[in-house]
Amino acid sequence: MTTRVVVLGAGFGGLELATIVGAHAAASSPGASSANGSSANGSSAGASSADASSAGVEVTLIDQAEGFVFGFSKLDVMFGRAAPDQVLHRYADLVNPGVRFVNARITAIDPVTKRVETSAGPFDADILVVALGADLDPAATPGLLEGGNEFYTVAGAFAAADALAAFEGGRVVVAVTSTPFKCPPAPSETALLAHEFLTSRGLPCDVTLVMPLGKPIPPSPDASSAVLKAFAERGINWMPERLVRSLDPDRKVAVLSDGSELPYDLFLGVPAHRVPAVVAESGLAVDGWIPVDPLTLETSFPGVYAVGDVTSVGTPKAGVFAEGQAAVVAARVLAAVRDEPGATEYDGRGVCYLEFGHDEVAKVDVKFVSGRPPVGALIGPSPTLAADKQAFGRDRIQRWFGRSWSLPES
Ligand SMILES: Cc1cc2nc3c(=O)[nH]c(=O)nc-3n(C[C@H](O)[C@H](O)[C@H](O)COP(=O)(O)OP(=O)(O)OC[C@H]3O[C@@H](n4cnc5c(N)ncnc54)[C@H](O)[C@@H]3O)c2cc1C
Repeated sequence: MTTRVVVLGAGFGGLELATIVGAHAAASSPGASSANGSSANGSSAGASSADASSAGVEVTLIDQAEGFVFGFSKLDVMFGRAAPDQVLHRYADLVNPGVRFVNARITAIDPVTKRVETSAGPFDADILVVALGADLDPAATPGLLEGGNEFYTVAGAFAAADALAAFEGGRVVVAVTSTPFKCPPAPSETALLAHEFLTSRGLPCDVTLVMPLGKPIPPSPDASSAVLKAFAERGINWMPERLVRSLDPDRKVAVLSDGSELPYDLFLGVPAHRVPAVVAESGLAVDGWIPVDPLTLETSFPGVYAVGDVTSVGTPKAGVFAEGQAAVVAARVLAAVRDEPGATEYDGRGVCYLEFGHDEVAKVDVKFVSGRPPVGALIGPSPTLAADKQAFGRDRIQRWFGRSWSLPES
């Protein structure tokens, strides 16, 4: 019997999962690397790559986007270190003989029957994996769209690059507008990179960071100290335990959760996060996100897993955690296909890179274990780790897309 694995979302989590399970499908199917076209589900619209069916497992990966962009590549584009086209990994270029990619919008998910409706037709699964990430809602913060730049969507980050390129200097406010938010270090990195960007161009520079957290990197006191030291050295104004609730575009002021006002010339904001509408409508989410078993990533629906930003698993919303969770689900899926007990469990570990500007990057090795305080060790910052971070991106594009990728020299 062939097990039909349908993966919803080809981001960090979905790509990792489809790659691991797809390798099994390709290895066990003599025809896997040659066929192309219609699916076992009876739909061929939008499909690319090969027929992944095998005696054991077939993998279908569905995403509506044109391609994948690393979160950290958004910062590279914003601060002029890469062009948009250099950081977009088009799904049309995905070369993975074990995975059938379908470029379509998912419009309904039934977690009981494990049937998914899409703009390319319906798909039925034996095992369904939801890896649809967090949607961003800039309109939820009054004035953000009219008076500021959000830099968390791909389009928003690319537009922020234009705003920064045209900026003649002055007061920059980097701010978070609601919790939870992806990649908690990213606003701190943005403040540091904005400072480097303006000062290296000889422009007037007054950077303020508004954060809901008490420390820049709560699980790692060493990383927090290093970031706060870098802020102090550069004169970056750190405003913890606050959010920006709204902007007044006419007066160019941000209104904070404590009622105070902050004037700005350029506003770079992290917008509100929520599950994609199709997840909210599916009944999978509880209190905003999909609850999962923190060790197995199983939802309360048999045969339905969820990984990454779409869950409330307890790790921060970051690619490295989505990837680690995907590897666990992949191991459990393959164990099920082989009719073996699925022993692999999620350990909550992730290694995050942290940009300090001036080609200095640090690494924070963090572990989140349910019921215990998280711990994180700091390595760096150093120029060597900047090269390490580039290798991290390169390795994943090689593994997921089957092609090489070189980042531009910074
Ligand atoms: C500025 C910035 C910097 C970051 N830096 C880092 C970093 O250095 N390290 C790190 O680990 N993380 C970083 N992140 C966070 C990281 O990008 C995310 O946490 C990660 O991508 C989450 O992976 P995921 O698989 O859960 O979801 P995603 O990667 O967001 O993938 C979800 C996919 O689902 C698709 N989708 C959604 N709805 C539908 C639908 N209805 N139909 C079809 N497809 C749909 C989307 O198109 C998307 O491709 C950063 C984020 C930002 C914004």
